[in-house]
Amino acid sequence: MSKLVPPHGSDTVMPLLVPETERAVSLRRAQALVRVPMTSRETSDFLMMAMGAYTPLTGFMRHDDWRGCCADMKTADGLFWPIPITLSCSKDLAGSIAVEDTVALVDQGSGEIMGVMEVTEKYAIDREFECHHVFRTADPKHPGVAKVLGQGEVNLAGRVEALSEGAYPEQYKGLYHRPEETRALFAERGWSQVAAFQTRNPMHRSHEHLAKIAIEICDGVLIHQVLGALKVGDIPAEVRVKAIDRLTERYFVPGTYVQAGYPIEMRYGGPREALLHALFRQNFGCSHLVIGRDHAGVGSYYGPFDAQHIFDTLPPDSLCIQPLKIDVTFYCYECGGMATARTCPHGDERRLQISGTRLREMFANNEKIPDEFSRPEVVAILKEYYASLRPRGSAQVS
Ligand SMILES: [Zn+2]
Repeated sequence: MSKLVPPHGSDTVMPLLVPETERAVSLRRAQALVRVPMTSRETSDFLMMAMGAYTPLTGFMRHDDWRGCCADMKTADGLFWPIPITLSCSKDLAGSIAVEDTVALVDQGSGEIMGVMEVTEKYAIDREFECHHVFRTADPKHPGVAKVLGQGEVNLAGRVEALSEGAYPEQYKGLYHRPEETRALFAERGWSQVAAFQTRNPMHRSHEHLAKIAIEICDGVLIHQVLGALKVGDIPAEVRVKAIDRLTERYFVPGTYVQAGYPIEMRYGGPREALLHALFRQNFGCSHLVIGRDHAGVGSYYGPFDAQHIFDTLPPDSLCIQPLKIDVTFYCYECGGMATARTCPHGDERRLQISGTRLREMFANNEKIPDEFSRPEVVAILKEYYASLRPRGSAQVS
């Protein structure tokens, strides 16, 4: 009997991936079907379902589930779910598809048939309604809102069968762990309390500090990287993986961490997205999720601790996973070490905090990044990356 938290709303993890031996036949059959293109966000949700991270969902949501998730964070059956998981298409394409048809789901980016879906419902949504509830704004400048506003006019619902996980398993060999696999890794180590540390950044010392607080409290930490599409200016996954490998090899105790990646595309939905992040971490076998400052936020759409507060508003049986709420972390010259706003009594002038924008500028200008901010091994990898962005022949970008 596993000592880990149970999956969300189910006794077992429910991947939707068809057994490998049956995929070739199903794929051949899928060639003849009407093709529905999936945007990068839809493909990322599809992949999360395929691997079992969205247990117990069996496909893209129908209208009542969409509405319930937007308004009350619950499906029509009462399952806690903070962000609707939907598939859209154009009016024209929807017109050529009848309810009960089986369609092929195609990744728009690669053109690959990823799976099939038996369409059980076609419906139109109020996209602004979704944005106001999920993102707390309908501002088209918000990257998550822009994707909802830009999607097709008709949503298609139905049970999904996944036939491919795209390039991920090969591209991120050794990192692309499905929930059943992380659960097995945790069980092997005898862990029951595992904290997930979500990151879309290379780990600087503040991130290292957060991960180590989690190790102090739990049996181990899952350093869990976003491998899906990011926004412009974010560090690509390959560079992050390298930086985190170098950091953990040098500064973490072996056996206290597992590094893995997962294919979601960030919505930058702040508090609601923090809940979704918690939900699927439970499926990966995690009992805790580190929630720091402005988790999954963007710009100034959310208060710095909104993503922590939202957990206090949930009905008690919504999730088994708990948030590990941690205040802003930094190096303090007066304390002489890493600290948080809860443990350091000194003022901002003694605390080392560098914004993402300022950090990019420092790299562009070849300025020295303080060792107290980032480990030299990590800085070296980032320097190499930023140098590769510069046009050949120019010494630096101004
Ligand atoms: Zn201090």
